[in-house]
Amino acid sequence: MPIDPNFEQNREKAGEENGVDVWGPVDPPEQLGIHGTHVAVDFDICIADGACLEDCPVDVFTWVDSPDHPESELKAEPTHEAQCIDCMLCVDVCPVDAIDVDPGRAGRI
Ligand code: SF4
Repeated sequence: MPIDPNFEQNREKAGEENGVDVWGPVDPPEQLGIHGTHVAVDFDICIADGACLEDCPVDVFTWVDSPDHPESELKAEPTHEAQCIDCMLCVDVCPVDAIDVDPGRAGRI
């Protein structure tokens, strides 16, 4: 199932990690929630494919560890979401549709 583009309405903000908002529910290590707001990555869908890290022209993503998560032990954190230029490459290349980018959503600065 792809990331819910309406997560701001459907989820509660659960906190902050690595400078980005985290949208719950969160219950580690199995459930990690959606990370980021302008650039949002559903950590529970992410399989650490890495295409977003390779293709993002402004290096928004960094790897973070997610030990014992059922899908992958690394996740693409949108650490530098404020740099995003809305090219949508990451949305297009993600093989599991874990990423949603919305210019109308403001992330943390
Ligand atoms: S939309 Fe483009 S600039 Fe923004 S995070 Fe994705 S690849 Fe990077």
